[in-house]
Amino acid sequence: SDVGSQKERVVTEEEWLQKWEMGNIGFHKEERHPLLQKYLDVLLNGRSELRIFFPLCGKAVEMKWLADMGHNVVGVEVSEQAVKDFFSEHSLPYCEEPVPEISGAKMFQSTSGNISLYCCSIYDLSSSIVGKFDGVWDRGALVAVNPCDRQRYASLMINLVEKNSSYLLVTVSYDPNKHKGPPFYVPESEIKSLFG
Ligand code: SAH
Repeated sequence: SDVGSQKERVVTEEEWLQKWEMGNIGFHKEERHPLLQKYLDVLLNGRSELRIFFPLCGKAVEMKWLADMGHNVVGVEVSEQAVKDFFSEHSLPYCEEPVPEISGAKMFQSTSGNISLYCCSIYDLSSSIVGKFDGVWDRGALVAVNPCDRQRYASLMINLVEKNSSYLLVTVSYDPNKHKGPPFYVPESEIKSLFG
């Protein structure tokens, strides 16, 4: 049936690290996402110098784009390789420091200070560690979360955003019986129940 076929599927962090190691990163795009360009005004809503969050960021090129516009970008990504590739592919000098609140986690920050990427699981974050955000770009993030973790993910995201924030979410529509995911199929009805 509909989503039933994917409900039990779990992709471990180890498997994600392996994808990065093997170069199985078909989800990464060199071009800026057309939907972010299309809905940029909705995200920004006339505001400048926003704090924008990229959950499960990979090495998304849009992080550089928004930072160049004067926003402060924060991402979280479990693969250190992805984080380092991001900075080196954009020739951005960075420094690396431990995150005292999260054992084993590191924060990689551009020397200019406007891009901070946390290398840890998103479930280790909280607003007391990363603060709250004015905007979220969620592409390849909710749809990459294991179906059993969606509720936890959504609660965390709700906790990480300011009252007057904008949250852009990209999902993928397809027949979940024909592909095991990720990306997983997240129907609109579920998005409504997760985010209200
Ligand atoms: N949003 C990015 C990457 C999408 S793929 C883009 O648009 O290109 C999903 C990414 O999430 C992978 O890079 C994977 O390594 C990372 N990831 C998976 N589970 C994670 C978790 N629990 N915490 C942080 N990152 C995670």
